[in-house]
Amino acid sequence: MLDSLGGKPDTIVALATPQGVGAIAVIRLSGPDAIPLANQVFHGRNLTKQNSHTIHFGTIRDGNRIIDEVLVSIFKSPKSFTKEDAVEISTHGSSYIVNSVIKLLIRKGARPAKPGEFTLRAFLNGQFDLAQAEAVADLIHSDSEASHQAALHQMRGGFSSEIKVLREQLIHFASMIELELDFTEEDVEFASRPDLRILVERLLRVIEQLIGSFDLGNVIKNGVPTVIAGKPNAGKSTLLNALLNEEKAIVSDIAGTTRDFIEDEINIGGVIFRFIDTAGLRETTDTIEAIGVSRTQEKMKTASLILYMFDLGDTDMVEINRDINKLENLGVPFLKVANKVDKAKTQFISELKDMFPDTIFISAGNRENLEGLKSRILELVNLDKFKTGNTVVTNIRHYDALVNTRQSLLDVLEGLDNEVTNDFLAMDIRRSLHFLGEITGEITTDDLLANIFSKFCIGK
Ligand code: GDP
Repeated sequence: MLDSLGGKPDTIVALATPQGVGAIAVIRLSGPDAIPLANQVFHGRNLTKQNSHTIHFGTIRDGNRIIDEVLVSIFKSPKSFTKEDAVEISTHGSSYIVNSVIKLLIRKGARPAKPGEFTLRAFLNGQFDLAQAEAVADLIHSDSEASHQAALHQMRGGFSSEIKVLREQLIHFASMIELELDFTEEDVEFASRPDLRILVERLLRVIEQLIGSFDLGNVIKNGVPTVIAGKPNAGKSTLLNALLNEEKAIVSDIAGTTRDFIEDEINIGGVIFRFIDTAGLRETTDTIEAIGVSRTQEKMKTASLILYMFDLGDTDMVEINRDINKLENLGVPFLKVANKVDKAKTQFISELKDMFPDTIFISAGNRENLEGLKSRILELVNLDKFKTGNTVVTNIRHYDALVNTRQSLLDVLEGLDNEVTNDFLAMDIRRSLHFLGEITGEITTDDLLANIFSKFCIGK
């Protein structure tokens, strides 16, 4: 198999498990010489004579010196991750051993792998398409049930097959129209224009849906940006700490100490929420805090969710009404969180319940009703769309390509409306095909590949 530059690939080596001490470390070799190279340093059975998918016990030796006792797994082309011959050496998890083995293999002729090079080879050898390769990276970085599900769906080809079906349908029309170009003299029409319009409109609907899923996808991948807003001393830091279960934010009795933004990621029901603790809503004369407050407004506008928190013992109905008014004007979903129920007057609580029945009463300090708060938070972000197994776009590169595809398809429609000549139609269809192909990697450039795979870590 040829590498991206058209040359014969060499054999690459890298540590596949994390750096540092562990029970086991796995060193990976891939390339035409993987098995003979490993065999040169392995004492045990002759690895070049073993079957694929077998594991062998022995020692790694540098001359007479034993470096470690190891297990060696053999994968023969094309039945390996990269589709090349590949070897995995499981050593004891010491960085000294790992470095010695890798150095030894390099001395024998292997080359240190670049970031993502194993996955790049797998892609170039047709193991999977580009969107699936990118999902491998997402899967490794997934830190919640939701991001894991989205990455897994993409890696298993859910997203790719949707894009491929769209592309194939369009290719059919493109070829018909290209054919017409060859028969311009005869004025024939192989591709029915009304059928093409129906197809393009259908594609546009699917693409709109995928584009629309990106907001959700982004949230799944990067966390739901959530602002906790409220006056100083409302108990914002205490709530964050209670949710986080650790003392990251500073809790203090002096009003206005939480001046800067503290971002914390909290997993609620399998979804990551990025909590932003703020300086509060209060109008203030303190300059530093005033800056904090205006920045708070900015943060609130871009949030997906706001927790409006107030101290039941320190806030009257007029103030709550005014704050709620302000929040309603922002247009971001928000929850009314009444804190310090432990010391609130029953009368005030029932007044509030009458006025705003959806208020959540908690005591951050005593960790009371935090579960109730969490389930309301989950209700509000409504990730049900995702749970139905629909494809969710989580990758900005795919999103950009989809937006470009949409534009090209709209151009096709416009061309049909204006009855433009075949060559113009063909051009717009080809452009749509190009952008769709970019997602799955039917269309790639070396720059694009380098950019994608350099973000992987070494050994992957
Ligand atoms: P922030 O300025 O909004 O971040 O407020 P803090 O989290 O720093 O809390 C201000 C004060 O209120 C601290 O002394 C907390 O211990 C106290 N506090 C927070 N939650 C509760 C609660 O549920 N009940 C009571 N009684 N005090 C609380």
